[in-house]
Amino acid sequence: MSETAAAYRVLARKYRPAAFADLIGQEALVRILTNAIRAGRIAHAFMLTGVRGVGKTTTARILARALNCLGPDGSRDGPAEEPCGVCEACTAIAADRHVDVIEMDAASHTGVDDVREIIEAARYRPVSARFKVYIVDEVHMLSRQAFNALLKTLEEPPGHVKFIFATTEIRKVPVTVLSRCQRFDLRRVPAEMLEAHFQGVLAQEGAEIEPEALARIARAADGSVRDGLSMLDQAIAEADGDRIAADAVNEMLGLADRLDIYDLFEALMRGEPAAALARFDEMYRAGADPGLVLQDMAELVHRLTRASVVPTEAEDAALPEAERVRGRKLAEALSLPALTRVWQLVLKGIQEVNAAPSAKPAFEMVLLRIAYAAGLPTPAEAIAQLRFGAPDAAAPQARAEPKPAPGPSADPPPPPPISEEHTS
Ligand SMILES: [Zn+2]
Repeated sequence: MSETAAAYRVLARKYRPAAFADLIGQEALVRILTNAIRAGRIAHAFMLTGVRGVGKTTTARILARALNCLGPDGSRDGPAEEPCGVCEACTAIAADRHVDVIEMDAASHTGVDDVREIIEAARYRPVSARFKVYIVDEVHMLSRQAFNALLKTLEEPPGHVKFIFATTEIRKVPVTVLSRCQRFDLRRVPAEMLEAHFQGVLAQEGAEIEPEALARIARAADGSVRDGLSMLDQAIAEADGDRIAADAVNEMLGLADRLDIYDLFEALMRGEPAAALARFDEMYRAGADPGLVLQDMAELVHRLTRASVVPTEAEDAALPEAERVRGRKLAEALSLPALTRVWQLVLKGIQEVNAAPSAKPAFEMVLLRIAYAAGLPTPAEAIAQLRFGAPDAAAPQARAEPKPAPGPSADPPPPPPISEEHTS
């Protein structure tokens, strides 16, 4: 890779889509927009919404180009279904130097004065483009007065103006504004689609990757092409030789830390508080953050719960083998009520740890509570015991007292059996 180092551009920039056809996973949006352009029925305001990194700004720029494209020979007299990419308008917009395409980040221009400036300027005809295009990113950050000012222009926009709004938080955008925009929800790109795309990028880059490594990155990207490409950048930079190994990616994405979470969680579910505390001490010495450990644990509980309801999910090929095997065992061993209870304890624990003056003691108290609760019967089990006696005759309290009073004083039945074998 050294021969390309001099002119290295990050992948996310190098492979940023320049045309609708290059947008991945947004077929509905592309179809509707190109149809509207073909039919000459183009809205005057668009609202692009979706999680970060899903391609809102990229889509806005492609749309700005399609609206203003002059065609390869400069003779086009209306918007193009697909920007040509070579005309003066297309190249100027791509280089972010077109006077009539104005990008603004509402996060740093939230006030009414900023919006008034736009509205004032919108009255004048574009300098050289067909349309004056205002791209307003994170539009939900605008103040109430700013939205109100904008509304008047949105109600009766000059024919030569187009607004393209982007937001990660659509609920914070007033309905009055929303109702005047054509709205598009950009989807998280499915992992398989990301995998195929990244494979293509790597082929063009002349890099190779082990399938498990590719699957791991596609999954970690969580639906974002940009995030995934950033991880690929890092993996390529760290790769030993030209092939990106699964081990290297696992290390890069912190798989070792994830298996620690399994160790800790399994100790808790076996009702072994001492083992759990010892395991956490090691993690803490290695730099683990109590709050993040709990968040990882919440994620694990959620995944296990889904897997216990939909068993095929435990076979998710994008998970590393080690996680898959341990996850499957846990999902089989733990009942839905038990998982729900842990979920609640973990969520409550996150709040407590965040609010506590010192995170470690608070975290350890949460661990102890979870380990203790793992040994208690779930409400359904407790009722069954009351009705039919303890299912396990070995529980001494149940034998001595046919109807034990429920509560912490009653001896808990043994925790659900979880194998102590690890695959790591
Ligand atoms: Zn063009």
